[in-house]
Amino acid sequence: MDVLEQLSLTNINASLEAGSLREKPACYRGRPTDLPITEAVMPNGQTIILLKTMVTSACERNCYYCPFRAGRDFKRTTFTPDDLALTYMKLYHARAVEGLFLSSGLIGGGVKIQDKIIATAELLRRRYAYQGYIHAKIMPGAEKDQILRLMELADRVSLNLEAPNTKRLKDLAPKKIFMDELVQRLLWVDEIRKNRSPFKAWRGRWPSSATQFVVGAVGETDHELIATSEKMFQMANLRRVYYSRFTPQQDTPLENHSAENPWRQHRLYQSSFLLRDYGFQMEELPFDPSGNLPIHTDPKLAWAQAALSHQPIELNKAGRKELLRVPGIGPKGADSIITARRQCALTQLNQLKSLHVNAKRAAPFILLNGKRPEFQLGLI
Ligand code: SF4
Repeated sequence: MDVLEQLSLTNINASLEAGSLREKPACYRGRPTDLPITEAVMPNGQTIILLKTMVTSACERNCYYCPFRAGRDFKRTTFTPDDLALTYMKLYHARAVEGLFLSSGLIGGGVKIQDKIIATAELLRRRYAYQGYIHAKIMPGAEKDQILRLMELADRVSLNLEAPNTKRLKDLAPKKIFMDELVQRLLWVDEIRKNRSPFKAWRGRWPSSATQFVVGAVGETDHELIATSEKMFQMANLRRVYYSRFTPQQDTPLENHSAENPWRQHRLYQSSFLLRDYGFQMEELPFDPSGNLPIHTDPKLAWAQAALSHQPIELNKAGRKELLRVPGIGPKGADSIITARRQCALTQLNQLKSLHVNAKRAAPFILLNGKRPEFQLGLI
């Protein structure tokens, strides 16, 4: 089996490991491919083609949703760090990929596999002087020194919590230990960032960190997911939380469980951005009595309809925090409004169009120089 065939055996199902709603399979040499190549949108909005692969697709764990779980009958493969680094560099020089996302199944424990991930990243940075993007997984149970070394090599590190708490994780991945094996590692990442100088780190700065949840496999509520996300943003200083809607995999214990609605995943992303970037608190999100978010309404719009319809915000006076509460106004829009109103008062909706604001969306919730924009009354 050649190495590209081997790579195709590690094709991580996009629904389990996708980093972005806007990820899609990419092509290799102009054609659709079985290679684990994915187009992903980076935090700065730039699109990057990632090789998303694994040190090994063998695993001794039995997570109920995972196609790589122990005992599932399919062809597995394992790379040496040398083979993996060399193959990645060939694909990189052929311009087939622009970055690496490196994960693994677990064989012989997290510490052993973590060493292989570190060795691969070291080869890339040292032997091949690779300057590009590396997102590397922290393995459950990895040691603190290993995490430090990985952080010196990667642009981003992540570890999937998979479920929002111990009870849900038991139903999803019974051999993973929520606090000791998973949460603790993400806390160490932040501890290292806070207490150690990054002078040895790649590009002289510590990598960002992230986690991911599987959504819709074991009855967890949006409230549970968002509450844990908020805690992890605060306690572990995560840059991103990914929500990966459950899709059933053949020949796994959850193969007959229905796939989760993609809109639920989308509403979770919107809500976590409200917490992270817009100054919202958990209790302001529109959870229903069962602890879930409305599927058919944007959570910020739902909040504004209840809170701002009769108390619109004056765009010429509001502070940044208040502006961010208005649907159609994001961080860029809020900053542009504050700059623009120093030059002249905002009196017309069409002034907002050049300020990164969705004027139609904002209209029902704002005042311009003390007046509601004319056409908005019909929209409320
Ligand atoms: S540890 Fe669980 S999620 Fe990870 S590869 Fe193994 S079975 Fe899959």
